[in-house]
Amino acid sequence: MSSLQPVRGTHDLLPDDSRRHRWVEEIAFAAARRYGFGEISTPIFEFTEVFSRTLGETSDVVTKEMYTFADRSGDSLTLRPEGTAGVARAFISNGLAQSLPLKLFYRGPMFRHERPQKGRLRQFHQVGVELLGVESPLADVEVIALAWRVLSELGVAGKVRLELNTLGDAESRLAYRDTLTTYLSDFRTALSEDSRNRLDRNPLRVLDSKDEGDRKIVEGAPLMGDSLTPAAREFFHTVTDGLTQLGIPFVTNPKLVRGLDYYCHTAFEFTTTALGAQGTVLAGGRYDELIAQMGGTRTPGIGWAAGVERLSMLVDEVPAGVRPITVIPMGDSLRAMAVAERLRRAGMTVDLGYTGNMKKRMARADKVNARFAVILGEEEASRGAVTIRDLDGGLQSEVPLASLEEHLGRLL
Ligand code: ATP
Ligand code: MG
Repeated sequence: MSSLQPVRGTHDLLPDDSRRHRWVEEIAFAAARRYGFGEISTPIFEFTEVFSRTLGETSDVVTKEMYTFADRSGDSLTLRPEGTAGVARAFISNGLAQSLPLKLFYRGPMFRHERPQKGRLRQFHQVGVELLGVESPLADVEVIALAWRVLSELGVAGKVRLELNTLGDAESRLAYRDTLTTYLSDFRTALSEDSRNRLDRNPLRVLDSKDEGDRKIVEGAPLMGDSLTPAAREFFHTVTDGLTQLGIPFVTNPKLVRGLDYYCHTAFEFTTTALGAQGTVLAGGRYDELIAQMGGTRTPGIGWAAGVERLSMLVDEVPAGVRPITVIPMGDSLRAMAVAERLRRAGMTVDLGYTGNMKKRMARADKVNARFAVILGEEEASRGAVTIRDLDGGLQSEVPLASLEEHLGRLL
């Protein structure tokens, strides 16, 4: 143990952080359910090839960011850096090709060995969706509409911008690859080392470079849009028309390429200027060849993933949790516990201090933002009664202990 600090780039989610986190996840899942998505949970580690073969051997994630280790039987395993590859693997392993179209939602931790910064962690969390088995661009529209719904319900739609591009079909991409390679080759020596490698192996990825020098060169690059086949152009039109009809604002960004190899046609990102350098909160695209590449029956797919930490930072106020009732004994504490237990059985949230005088207990009630105090005084006890104090208004009333649940239920 190097110290008692958490590993760099990892965080403990204390109850207040967790509440934000859960709220974001729940809003996303509730919206996804309304679009007909069910939840899938895949393991947080997979055989390394699940990621290395699908994300692309030249992607940043595979070359620099994966947590890969040999387990005790010598298998090479990797902590999942993203969700799509695992879902695609599960789709194949479980023979789900029978149940298309398939709409899946997932949430959970992802792991990437990156340089930690605000909004960039080594263990972070995503919510995401995958829609499998639909060739039609209507799927793209629906999946983006779901993203927009989630962002709207989180109250952050006003802070984000939807950027949209098409990567075309295979034919378009081949044509574009040639045009782009020709252009970039003239700048070979000026490109960063990473981009020189990408130029040989996957030139589209150069467009995604964050290097300043590369960005300048990329500014003058030919655009994907000019290499699109008529079919790919038509596909993209349907997507943009659909979004327009649904009233979802977007801008097209012809330089938008996603970092992973498996994307085709629609690529999109919701970006913000509110989080400094970590501007992308939700990103996704279409991946029609992924499942075939992994060895399954060709099944088109489209999906997105959003970073829960980044979303949490954008969200202003998360609804407060349930305000508890506090039970305050004047004498017998065990009796207080029995009363608390009764109220909890009735579905109420109850905080019970263990020690202290009235003053100390009221301070505690204040700290946990209790709504009512149930005070068990000796004198009332002799009458079979207790006192309920409204901690907001200060009013109090004596009620029979036997019907305490009823009284509180009415007040809540
Ligand atoms: P970036 O360009 O910021 O590195 P990315 O393209 O690598 O993002 P994706 O693989 O598309 O990100 O993941 C989807 C979302 O997951 C991102 O938009 C972001 O909100 C979140 N995310 C990705 N990597 C991290 C990370 N290291 N820490 C926190 N959130 C992350
Ligand atoms: Mg990244």
